[in-house]
Amino acid sequence: MRRDDEGRSDDEPVGQTANPSSDGLNSTNNEAPPIQLLVRVGDNLPRVTPPGYAVATDLLAELLDGIDRPHAFAPPDRHTGLCRICGATATLTFEHIPPSSAGNDRRARSSPGLPLLTSDQPLNFPKTGWTPAQRGVGGYVLCKPCNEFVGQRYILEYGQLAAALRKQVDGAFAALGHAVGGLDLDLAGWALGDVARAGLVTVMDVAVHDRLLRRYPELTNVVRQPGTPLPSTLRLGLTVVLGTRARLSSPVCQADPDGCVVFSEAALAPFSWTLSFLEPGLRSLPHTADVSEWLHHGQNHRPIHAQLKLPVGAVVSPTPGDYRPASLIEANLPTDR
Ligand SMILES: [Zn+2]
Repeated sequence: MRRDDEGRSDDEPVGQTANPSSDGLNSTNNEAPPIQLLVRVGDNLPRVTPPGYAVATDLLAELLDGIDRPHAFAPPDRHTGLCRICGATATLTFEHIPPSSAGNDRRARSSPGLPLLTSDQPLNFPKTGWTPAQRGVGGYVLCKPCNEFVGQRYILEYGQLAAALRKQVDGAFAALGHAVGGLDLDLAGWALGDVARAGLVTVMDVAVHDRLLRRYPELTNVVRQPGTPLPSTLRLGLTVVLGTRARLSSPVCQADPDGCVVFSEAALAPFSWTLSFLEPGLRSLPHTADVSEWLHHGQNHRPIHAQLKLPVGAVVSPTPGDYRPASLIEANLPTDR
């Protein structure tokens, strides 16, 4: 739920961002803060505050406001809450995150991120403390009309492109004997706007209550009125990913001496969708392709030319936005950068 690079047990808390009453910078609060920014002892991480840190903490205080209240993040139970697409108060319905048409249709186990991030074996799924997700990965996050709208308009195309991409990734893997770092794709003929709107919904689904919509109310129309562009300070990122794990993250901050990245993520092979917040001073998440422009396409519009290089990565790390394969993560565990 927050980010440092390996999340080991020798982490030293330096700040927290989820408590709206906190200034987020130097406060320490022993009453189980849900989100913390951590720095490992011995790393060169930021004794000097990185550029954008104040912007990032202010933004996260807003986007995570109320995270300590019930039903804040991908709630597993039916309840009355705030729809993540239209903001209405309604009896919320279960939404697969990502869509079941892309393979998210099997039973899964769900674990909160913090125990994994602070484990000295962050790649091993915990033996205890997980909860079953019978219907697949998801949560009660959408009102019925929004759920049906997305299901009827965007999900079929999303599932078909996911299946085609999976085949292509498997083919490249079989030909080379190892995973590739990027794929040159010809996506002509695909309804890329509809795929991107389904992808955008997955990162809206992992928002906290209606906090994303409160700050960016235009997002409702981006989903419900095809062709509406993203607000200029948001960036929809896409990475092709391998593996059997899903990873969902509400907005988090990734900080290093060069600067801060604030983003949320919904990942399950073959797609990882990310929403980067590009407020002044913040950078976009690396190892993602910017597909924000796909949203400019109207419904069922199929561009004749659509060449794109998509980065390929793995989802094995519990750290949001980390696409390194297990071998690289393990090699870096003791010392990191
Ligand atoms: Zn709704």
